[in-house]
Amino acid sequence: MYKYSGPCNGFVTTLRGQTVTMTGRVVVRGEHIKRDNLAKIIETKGAKFKNDLTGQISLLIHGDLTGQIVANMKIQFSDKLLDVINQDRRKHHVCVVSSAGFSELLNGGTTRCLHDAVAERASAN
Ligand SMILES: [Zn+2]
Repeated sequence: MYKYSGPCNGFVTTLRGQTVTMTGRVVVRGEHIKRDNLAKIIETKGAKFKNDLTGQISLLIHGDLTGQIVANMKIQFSDKLLDVINQDRRKHHVCVVSSAGFSELLNGGTTRCLHDAVAERASAN
């Protein structure tokens, strides 16, 4: 199977071959998608789901963190977003998409990678 390893050009074009994790509340078509369900959905798209953000992860779905206990309340950052920054230091780029972006990918579309916005928010703190 095709394995995603190319450098990021600012867009995420497919779920195929991605190793995915999530943070926050992911909503697709107005419906809150639970972890187990999400894992099943993305498997049908040729992606793998993991609970932890490690060096294997290529894509993070950044759901809504409002009202959740997050690692850094000041900038509404979860541990997984902080892990994205930590992976950066190891020269490993993890693409980040929103719930809307994820929905777009499920529909076969392309979405923006929010990685740089996340990194900017972290460094602005
Ligand atoms: Zn990216």
